[in-house]
Amino acid sequence: MSVVENYNKILSTIPQGVNLCAISKFHPREAIEELYRVGHRCFGESRPQEFWGKASVLPIDIEWHFIGHLQTNKVKMVVPYASIIESVDSVRLLQAISKEAAAVGKTQRILLQMHIAQEEHKQGFSEEEVRQILADSYPNVEIVGLMGMATYTDDREQIAFEFQKIATLFAEYGNLSVLSIGMSGDYGIAIECGATSVRIGSAIFGSRY
Ligand SMILES: *Cc1c(COP(=O)(O)O)cnc(C)c1O
Repeated sequence: MSVVENYNKILSTIPQGVNLCAISKFHPREAIEELYRVGHRCFGESRPQEFWGKASVLPIDIEWHFIGHLQTNKVKMVVPYASIIESVDSVRLLQAISKEAAAVGKTQRILLQMHIAQEEHKQGFSEEEVRQILADSYPNVEIVGLMGMATYTDDREQIAFEFQKIATLFAEYGNLSVLSIGMSGDYGIAIECGATSVRIGSAIFGSRY
């Protein structure tokens, strides 16, 4: 199937009101342009260099999400074009984003990445840390929601348990509007758990390897 056929098939399974962020990392600009031509506007990338390379030449009405681990010294490559930085996983990064957003004169929308998986290598804040950060404020930064990645497993109950954890915290904060959970393999569960945005890469663009 083509990228557009994959996309249409997935779109037909996503309820109205749930945003589909097409994760185009490692795929060429042409793949993004294919979806752009059929009207899709929200794309996600995970590497600063690649993000910059694509965002700086593709149409300016694309809504770019940055979803990968971001080092503070790469913030300059991301802030100018990011509609939302989903993967904020340290206070140091939050401060660097705040500073850079002020320097370029924008308010940067961000999500706090919460650690919900069993795998230790996955990034993110604990529930307690999320609460602390939400109690503070950072100039030129608007915290609009939470992002999480479930454990990579076939155990649907485990995945649902992890998504429920972040969904419950999200629901407690009435001022948050974005709950970004769910990828190609588990977005159906994420939607059942209350996702407002899903991040789907390989099921649209094919394998990255
Ligand atoms: C790559 C990536 C995705 C998309 O993964 P697929 O399994 O290809 O859909 C979603 N979220 C994050 C944070 C990613 O790094």
